[in-house]
Amino acid sequence: MGCCCNRNTEEYKQRVRWMSEYHAVFDHLSNEKLLEHEIDLLNIFKGQSVRLSHPMIKYFQMVTAVCADRDLLTPQNAQKFPKEFPLAACCGAPSIGILTPFVHKAGLICLHCQETLVPLEDFPQWLREVCESWGSNYEKWSSVVRWNQEQQARAEKMSGKPIGALYEDSYFQCKDLLKKEAAEIVPGFLEHYPSVVWQDFDPAFNIRPEDIVSEETPVHLF
Ligand SMILES: [Zn+2]
Repeated sequence: MGCCCNRNTEEYKQRVRWMSEYHAVFDHLSNEKLLEHEIDLLNIFKGQSVRLSHPMIKYFQMVTAVCADRDLLTPQNAQKFPKEFPLAACCGAPSIGILTPFVHKAGLICLHCQETLVPLEDFPQWLREVCESWGSNYEKWSSVVRWNQEQQARAEKMSGKPIGALYEDSYFQCKDLLKKEAAEIVPGFLEHYPSVVWQDFDPAFNIRPEDIVSEETPVHLF
């Protein structure tokens, strides 16, 4: 499958070795069994929005990567997949997109190769407008983590707040924007796409998946 990394670096080779050890857990499965597994996972995701942090997503990426290694993602085998997930033009894996804060620039990203799966211009118009506004807003607030010293000093002067307070403001704004993504934008995608995976964290601000939860979600204690 496609990858944007430089394949000649030792870091890349090390990563491939690491993933190969992960993939080895599937070695004893026949091709038939592996395809059944892929189909089961696609059926689970059908009609659902799933957090990018969900362990099933990592698992699905792994099963798909092993299918690709064994050349199982053929048009013939894809006929057995749920028809909602055609093979993607970018890497030939079943099409499932990730909604990220870069949606206003990159559209929906392929879950398997991180290339653009659905460009912004192909979204329904209302969803495009919502994503343009949301993504631009997120970009504006999250820019604080990329400011250099000069930009920090200018922002402090203009706002009358120390950089720590500006950072904190941005942290809360981005957290609220991720909550808005979950509550208002993700359901919109499910009206038009069979499934969507959404980014529920932001390492730049140390926003964790468990920080992005709805008050409505029932609490079941063990
Ligand atoms: Zn792809």
